[in-house]
Amino acid sequence: MVYDTHNIFAKILRGEIPCKKVYEDNHVLAFHDIAPKAPVHILVLPKGPYKDMDDFTKRASAEEITALFRAFSQIACDHGLDQSGYRLISNCGINGGQEVPHLHLHLLGGTRLGRMVQAG
Ligand code: 5GP
Repeated sequence: MVYDTHNIFAKILRGEIPCKKVYEDNHVLAFHDIAPKAPVHILVLPKGPYKDMDDFTKRASAEEITALFRAFSQIACDHGLDQSGYRLISNCGINGGQEVPHLHLHLLGGTRLGRMVQAG
């Protein structure tokens, strides 16, 4: 599948749609999810055109991969989650339930989170 440049996160990255930004560097943008599922629900995404984790791990540079992983821990610290704990989720493809076809990781915390997986 080719990367869809009209997806909502591509529009946010281009500044065509606003977001509540919490972090940005050369390779990464992070912002609050519009429909939070936890007291802290931040979406962390690479700026490059990667549709999911599979695409990213195959095509991204080492610098981009490092930047994404460093960003999680920086954002978690910034929101006090490094002490209380958090969950990172990346939905990939149809079975993963991915809705927006630009790689993003959900950083969730601020409460005790429930079961990790609920099929169906
Ligand atoms: P997915 O199911 O693809 O892993 O998650 C997509 C996430 O994007 C959902 O949690 C949804 O609430 C969030 N989302 C969808 N549209 C927007 C938007 O326009 N702005 C923001 N901040 N989040 C969005």
